[in-house]
Amino acid sequence: MEIKLDIHIHSSASPDSKSTPEQIFARAREVGLNTIGIADHGTVEGALQARKLSRDIRVLAGQEVLTKQGEVLVFNLEENLEQRQDLLQTCRKAKDKGAFIIVPHPFDPLRSGIGSSIKKILHLIDALEVFNSKCFMGRTNSKARAFAEQNKLPMVAGSDAHLLHDIGNAINVYNTPKAPKTDKDFHSLIKTQTPEMITKRFNMLMFMKSKMGVYTLKT
Ligand SMILES: [Zn+2]
Repeated sequence: MEIKLDIHIHSSASPDSKSTPEQIFARAREVGLNTIGIADHGTVEGALQARKLSRDIRVLAGQEVLTKQGEVLVFNLEENLEQRQDLLQTCRKAKDKGAFIIVPHPFDPLRSGIGSSIKKILHLIDALEVFNSKCFMGRTNSKARAFAEQNKLPMVAGSDAHLLHDIGNAINVYNTPKAPKTDKDFHSLIKTQTPEMITKRFNMLMFMKSKMGVYTLKT
């Protein structure tokens, strides 16, 4: 079975996105995704709600947690983690409760990457986002990939889509003989397979238009 996953999507539960679950599902179908990760800023509620509403698109529920050192994506945890706490403590707490941790845009200072603090949580990381479509400085993504290779960390790509249009800017394609059923199956797929990544940088013009109110969200 072919899994096509964009792991890093924001919904309207994030203060900086207007995408409703239905709109996200429609866009996901349009770009050929069958699995999505929703990780809103500081809350898992949006993702849990979307998961309830979804019929055909598999939703992995997560949250993007801002720590003192930068952001981490936490999946497989159905409670909101406290923001702006110490990175190591936050990750430890999450892992103790069975969370799956992906570090997004690790070396992008413009996107709250955790930078060199990554070394402190190396043993707690389940996967590294080695392509983030929002990273403007090309080197930040290549640095993430080199770090993942050096430290033998599983790799994923994320669109970090706050606009519907950006969903699918990063598609991870996994081929697996057995269809993953539980979230755990998906996590072990991410940990054991390097996906083919179909990636595209996000469209700055579209972003500017959305800020000016020219671009309207599709329904
Ligand atoms: Zn994000």
